[in-house]
Amino acid sequence: MYCSLKLVQAVVIILLLVTPLSLQCGPGRGSGRRRRPRKLTPLVFKQHVPNVSENTIGASGLSDGAITKEDPKFKDLVSNENPNIEFKDEERTGADRMMSERCKEKLNMLAISVMNQWPGVKLRVTEAWDEDGTHSKDSLHYEGRAVDITTSDKDRAKYGMLARLAVESGFDWVYYESRNHIHCSVKSDSSVAIKIGGCFPGYGMVTTQRGTVAMDHLAVGDMVLGVGSGGQLEFSEVITFLDRNIGETALFYTITTEDGRTITLTAKHLIYVTDSNCTGNVFDSSVVVYAETVKPGQFLLYGNHDDNVEYLKASRVTMVTSRTERGVYAPLTHSGTIVVDGVVASCYAVINNANIAHLVFAPIRGLYDLSAHAPWLTQLSDVVNTPDPKGVHRYAKVLYNFASLFLSRSVLYVP
Ligand SMILES: [Zn+2]
Repeated sequence: MYCSLKLVQAVVIILLLVTPLSLQCGPGRGSGRRRRPRKLTPLVFKQHVPNVSENTIGASGLSDGAITKEDPKFKDLVSNENPNIEFKDEERTGADRMMSERCKEKLNMLAISVMNQWPGVKLRVTEAWDEDGTHSKDSLHYEGRAVDITTSDKDRAKYGMLARLAVESGFDWVYYESRNHIHCSVKSDSSVAIKIGGCFPGYGMVTTQRGTVAMDHLAVGDMVLGVGSGGQLEFSEVITFLDRNIGETALFYTITTEDGRTITLTAKHLIYVTDSNCTGNVFDSSVVVYAETVKPGQFLLYGNHDDNVEYLKASRVTMVTSRTERGVYAPLTHSGTIVVDGVVASCYAVINNANIAHLVFAPIRGLYDLSAHAPWLTQLSDVVNTPDPKGVHRYAKVLYNFASLFLSRSVLYVP
């Protein structure tokens, strides 16, 4: 199974390598552009970045609840064995090495910055996951999403700069909490996964050849209404779910148009809009944008087979609201588009260009098509198309990791 995934990774690498440079809009993060060294300002005592409280969406977000050793969620924590980091581990339990994936990733980045900033000095962790209840109620330490850090030489004069380096390394909230340490925390792994996924709620209605069904009743193999490359409404097969998780909560945006249509989707999901209610083929004049950027005055595209509408029409957006809801669904169709609640949306998120997204998902479509003709490929297709236990499509994660190497921030959303 592991080999199969490797094969898919290889396909993605090759695909991205042969992708013409014109797809890279602007200099990518991995491009040769020389960065001018930026002057870094140390944090001052009691300062936190960003300047909002830790448990808000703009920082690390709400606590998901403490994780104990007996908790099934304990297996989601990872042990950080980075030799370039000192772990205090005064409890002698290894607890100070236990943290979430995201926390580990940011900490390892910081370890490199510390060594670059002060040769011979290492990053030191005094506290990570806490199983002893020594922190305040709802502390992110209880779920491995926070670390307390110093430098290995315990030189307090360095701590303000250490905090700044933590901000630069991507921690979601950094606090110069005490003279003795800096507290850093991250968003939950699942909230990051949702941003990568981009989803609809379970009650979004879609038109299939077997009738109109809610998103949570849509199945792989269903023929669902989407839009063809020429802008015509057509049925397209659901080939997989990039995300499908009944229990997960996410922040959803609901966009309402003047004729009372509404569509609800997550912030980084892509949706088609136009700036004017032009006559002719509105699909040609449309662009895809993140749902969170849609503004009243823009037009959404709609169409429904029931209305006998051959081409799509546009309807003016009057209101955009947001709220948190439970249940996330991200079907991927062959056409890369799907009509939800009568409104045309892309199946993609994060990559701010539906054409690039459609291209990078080509191997999945290819595999799906081939498996229909070659039964032995079905097994491989199943491996690739099975969402992992956390609900996020493995391919989407792999894709995201590779895409982040090749695509610029103007195209790719980096959580
Ligand atoms: Zn702390």
